[in-house]
Amino acid sequence: MQQHIDSYDFTGKKAIVRVDFNVPLNENFEITDDTRIRKAIPTLKTVLEKGGSLIIMSHLGRPKKVDPKFSLKHIVARVSECLGVPVQFADDCMKADAQAAALKPGEVLLLENLRYYAEEEGKPRGLAEDASEEEKKAAKKVVKDSQKEFVKKLASYADCYINDAFGTAHRAHASTALIAEYFPNDKMFGYLMEAEIKAIDNVLKNAERPLTAIIGGSKVSSKLAVLKNLVGKVDNLIIGGGMGYTFIKAQGGKIGKSLHEDDLMPDALAILEEAKAKGVNVSLSVQTIAGQSFDNDTPRQIFDTNNIGEDWEGMDAAPATLENWKKIILASKTILWNGPVGVFELPNFAKGTLQIAEDLAEATKLGAYTLVGGGDSVAAVTQMGYADKVSYVSTGGGAMLEAIEGKTLPGIAAIQD
Ligand code: AMP
Repeated sequence: MQQHIDSYDFTGKKAIVRVDFNVPLNENFEITDDTRIRKAIPTLKTVLEKGGSLIIMSHLGRPKKVDPKFSLKHIVARVSECLGVPVQFADDCMKADAQAAALKPGEVLLLENLRYYAEEEGKPRGLAEDASEEEKKAAKKVVKDSQKEFVKKLASYADCYINDAFGTAHRAHASTALIAEYFPNDKMFGYLMEAEIKAIDNVLKNAERPLTAIIGGSKVSSKLAVLKNLVGKVDNLIIGGGMGYTFIKAQGGKIGKSLHEDDLMPDALAILEEAKAKGVNVSLSVQTIAGQSFDNDTPRQIFDTNNIGEDWEGMDAAPATLENWKKIILASKTILWNGPVGVFELPNFAKGTLQIAEDLAEATKLGAYTLVGGGDSVAAVTQMGYADKVSYVSTGGGAMLEAIEGKTLPGIAAIQD
C-alpha cells in the first residue's frame, strides 16, 4: 500500500531515498548547477525532521564501470551544505551494510553511484559488437539474475522507500522501480515526484477546458507519439518549430529548404484527419521568419508559411502566426508546452519562443494552469527568465515526454501498484 510522506511515521526508521543527483560537473569535479540537489531537499529534510535517518541513492552520468570521474563523492559537501547536516559516504553501494546499520535518527548516508553496477539498469555490459543474438540473450539473463540480489541488498539497508527521482521515473531500474516490491506497505513518493505527477494529471486527467497543447521542436519523428496521444485529449493543438514544416509540406505548401521529414508526411496527414474527426482545432504556422543559412547573422525574410522561397529555411514563427497562437493561448484554461517554436538558441530566431513564454506567463496571470514540460522548452523558459511566471516547469525531460505520450512510467507505477 502506498504511503504519504506527510502521514508516515519516520521515528527511528531508515529511509532509502532514490533521488536524481545527476548534476553537471566541470573538469575540476565542481558542481556547475545544483538545481537537482536543491529540488530533493524538502523530501530529505522532512525525513530527518520526523525522526528518521537517510540512505540516499542516485546515479551520476553514464559510467560503464567503476570510474572516479562519475563518483558521487564529488557532491557530498554540497549535499551536506544544502541539508545542514554532515553526510557520510559509502564507497560501494553494495557494501554499505555496516554504515547503514549504524545510522542514528538525523544521520545521512550517501551511496556511491548505482550505475557502477550493470545491475542498476539491468543491461549487460562489455558485450562484443558482433555478439550473436544467443550471446546477447544469455548475457541479459546473467545480469537480470544478479539484479535480484542487487535490489535485495539495497532494500536490506532500510525500513521504507521513497522515490523522488522524476528524471528517471521512465526507467524500470533497480532503484527506481524494482526495489519498491520489498516495501509493499512502506513505499511513497517524495515531494518532487508528487509535484510532477500532479502537474501531469492537471493536464492529462483533470484539465479545465479549453485545453491547449503547444508542440514544437525539430522533428515530427521524436514527437509523433506525443501528437498521437494529445490529439485525442486537447481542444487546441498548436504545432510549431521545425516539425511544423512537415505538416505544411504534406498539405501541399512550399517550404523551401525548411527542415522536414518526407517519410512522416502520411503520419502528419493522419494526425490532421484525426483532429478534424474529433473536432480538435489544429493551428499551424501561417507566417514564418526564414533565413538563408542556419546561423544567427544570415539574412532574414518573412514569408507566408505555405509559400517560402526556394533558397530560404523557416527558422522562427513570424508575427501573424504569433497573433493566432496568442489568441488561442489567452482563451485557454490549461496549457501544455513542449518544444520551442523556433531556433531559440540563435538570438535572431528566438523571438517566437520568447513570445510563447510571455503568452504563457500572461495566461497564468489570468488564472490558467500552464505546464512547461520536456527538454528544450524548459531550457528556453528558464534561460528567458519565465520559469517562475508559469504554473509548473517539469524537471524531467525524457520522463515528461513519455508521460505526455500517455505511457505509464515504471517509477510511478511501482509506488502506486
Ligand atoms: P526538440 O528537442 O525536438 O524539442 O527540438 C528542439 C530543437 O528544435 C531546438 O534545438 C531548436 O533549435 C530546434 N528548432 C525549432 N524550430 C526549428 C526550425 N524551424 N528549424 C530547425 N530547428 C528548429
